[in-house]
Formats: sequence, C-alpha cells, structure tokens
Amino acid sequence: MNEQLGIGMTSQRTRDRLIAQLQELGIKDQRVLSVMRKVPRHLFMAEALASRAYENTSLPIGHGQTISQPYMVARMTELLIEDGLPENVLEVGTGSGYQSSILASLVPRVFSVERIRPLQDQAKKVLADVGFRNINFKHSDGGWGWKVCGPYQGILAAAAPVEIPMNLLEQLVVGAKLIIPIGEEGKQVLQRVTRTEAAYEVETIEPVSFVPFLKGRA
Ligand code: SAH
Repeated sequence: MNEQLGIGMTSQRTRDRLIAQLQELGIKDQRVLSVMRKVPRHLFMAEALASRAYENTSLPIGHGQTISQPYMVARMTELLIEDGLPENVLEVGTGSGYQSSILASLVPRVFSVERIRPLQDQAKKVLADVGFRNINFKHSDGGWGWKVCGPYQGILAAAAPVEIPMNLLEQLVVGAKLIIPIGEEGKQVLQRVTRTEAAYEVETIEPVSFVPFLKGRA
C-alpha cells in the first residue's frame, strides 16, 4: 500500500533487509524466511509505528503489550517446525496476530488464545483482512490451553510463565514440541519441551525477554 504512495518504508526492499538481518543472526530455515519475507508486518501495528515495522525490534501494541521481535518470531517458529510441519498448532498470546500469521502461513490449522479481548479483536480483524482463514481464536487464559481443539502437534507461547504450565504439556501429542519462554522478568530463557512416550525432554535455547504470562482474562 505504501509502495503506491512512494514512501518505501514498507517496500519489498525494506522487508528483504530484515530477512538478511535474520539470516545474519542465525535463522536458517528457508520456510520461515520465505513467509517472513511475504507477510506485511506493518499491518499488525498502529499506523504511527508502521515506518519501523521492518526493524528487528519489538514495538508497543497497547494494553502494555508488544508485537514480538522478528528474530524471536523466526527463532521460535524454526524451533517448532525443525522436525517437520505440525498439522495443528496452539498459540498462547495472540497479541497483534503477527506470530499467528507466520504460523498460519506454514501449518494447516492454528488455534490462538489471548487474555486481553481488545487485542484479540483487533488481531482477528487484521488477519481476516489479510486473508487468513485457518486461525481459530479464543478469549481465555492460555494457562488452560484449549483442550477441546487439541491435542496439538505443536504449541508456542509468547508470554513467560515462571514454570511450564501442566495443561500445555498435557495437550501435546507424543513427539510434539512446546516452545516457551520461562522465568521471571530479567532472567528468562527460551525452552523447547518435547513430549516423549514416558516423560518430557527440555532443551534450554537462549536468554530472552518476554512479557509475563498472566492469569485470568482482561
Ligand atoms: N506473538 C504476539 C506477542 C504478543 S505479546 C505478537 O507478535 O504480537 C504476548 C501476549 O500474550 C500479550 O498479548 C498478552 O496479553 C498475552 N498473554 C499473557 N499471558 C497470557 C495468558 N495467560 N493467556 C493468554 N494470553 C496471554
């Protein structure tokens, strides 16, 4: 849209620069890079911030929340799909809907839970406008997961609880992965938890900084 206005802040060239940065930061999965090159991130934020949409940074989306940093979206998605594309994914923390759009570009069905109603309503609208038809939304505390639509072949959380929520683990099929930041603010790490026949295998990936995983609906 802005291309037509000749502004260029959201042009394909600007987007390609972000993709080059993600590669420099170690993102290798071509499937992830390819969808991130196409999805218009500037539509998932207030117009006043759109000129910064293709910087590798998180940005405010209101209600004290942020749209995740592109590197983090790429990294989490890469970790989720490394061993194959899941058929269905549960996302906790719809936020702006940007991460949902990346997931929905790669997997057949996405189920997205958000505790702040106005954020989810806005995300729903943008995602419908952009043309996504394979995302289901629920206004709820993601600590419960979304049991009736599960179990899931993958779960991704964009807010950090202090401990891994049991409900999320229970809604994974055997072999599936949960990608989640864990820990108190200032000392969080990204973890990948794989459900095995008998237990769960936890890998600690890297230090991260996410908003806290809060209880209840707002
Ligand atoms: N992936 C989103 C990230 C948004 S920030 C994006 O790129 O825009 C994380 C989101 O998690 C916030 O919107 C916050 O409200 C939500 N959140 C925090 N705790 C939650 C919980 N228990 N259940 C559901 N959503 C939660």
